Amino acid sequence: MQKTALVCGAGGFIGGHLVKKLKNEGYWVRGVDLKRPDFSETAADDFVVGDLRDQILCQNVLDRPFDEVYQLAADMGGAGYIFTGEHDADVMHNSAQINLNMAYYGNKAGIKKIFYSSSACMYPERNQLEPENPNLSEDSAYPAAPDSEYGWEKLFSERLYLSYNRNYGLDVRIARFHNIFGPEGTWRGGKEKAPAAMCRKVAEAKDGDSIEIWGDGEQTRSFMYIDECLEGVRRLMDSPDFRGPVNIGSDEMVSINQLAKMIMEFENKKLELKHIEGPLGVRGRNSDNRLIHEKLGWRPNAPLKDGLKKTYDWINQQIKNNP
Ligand code: NAD
Repeated sequence: MQKTALVCGAGGFIGGHLVKKLKNEGYWVRGVDLKRPDFSETAADDFVVGDLRDQILCQNVLDRPFDEVYQLAADMGGAGYIFTGEHDADVMHNSAQINLNMAYYGNKAGIKKIFYSSSACMYPERNQLEPENPNLSEDSAYPAAPDSEYGWEKLFSERLYLSYNRNYGLDVRIARFHNIFGPEGTWRGGKEKAPAAMCRKVAEAKDGDSIEIWGDGEQTRSFMYIDECLEGVRRLMDSPDFRGPVNIGSDEMVSINQLAKMIMEFENKKLELKHIEGPLGVRGRNSDNRLIHEKLGWRPNAPLKDGLKKTYDWINQQIKNNP
């Protein structure tokens, strides 16, 4: 029997790539999103444009007991969207509403398994104050103190899905993503994240120009290429009994200044880094991959540079196509 999957957020960056992967693996796939994918046609067999905050819509798209549901839909963006405080109410309301609906109606529809994408943003700020040694092991999540409402909503929804598991036996899988990037991600307009923003700035600059970086650029992060993220998601879904929450992220930690320099090297551009005020998020963050390795016998290991190069080339092409 052909396996069936529902991908919520299929018009987004990770959802769009996930649909392609599931199709390649032979699934029948339905995608749902407020919009169709921005940069290519969806690979889904059926694509519903609709609002997952709407209970009727949720009931309609859950018209069968899907083998796998992937809940990726969320009101989100990069630091420029999440850390300014201007979108807090929307972020909390919209994403919580989607998750409340999907847990309730998914369970009612008898789905076999549901994946939920949480985020490293749910970890306490106190463990991410030093750029060099952040602590993001899964068991460091409590006492909770995320630094954004986006993180609080993720934590709430993790607990929501886990409670459906305890009380109704719903098979849930939860991953905490750490900065996923790659081609076909938002690269301009305010919702783009650091790797895409930096690739765009470098691609648009000429030798001798300067590019702007928020803060002193010494804040550290790790960035994971989309293909490895999806590999982790599929392995978690296929695991017989491990539910998570588990980190899915790279542990190759770089500062934002190092990230910019790495990108400049692709075309040997000599650019000055101009540090300006901007929304920053925590000081240091890196994925702790001990648990995923222990439970799934796998951990990500692709070099950051390789994924960045593919992303840079794609963004360069976008700039040429849409100046
Ligand atoms: P994205 O913004 O590209 O995709 C999210 C999609 O959800 C968008 O296409 C959006 O239109 C859709 N959506 C929002 N509200 C909706 C609604 N009411 N009804 C239907 N669709 C709706 O983001 P992404 O990078 O693909 O992230 C996917 C998931 O992974 C999100 O839950 C995000 O919080 C999580 N995550 C991503 C990262 C990352 O680095 N990309 C890191 C941590 C967690």
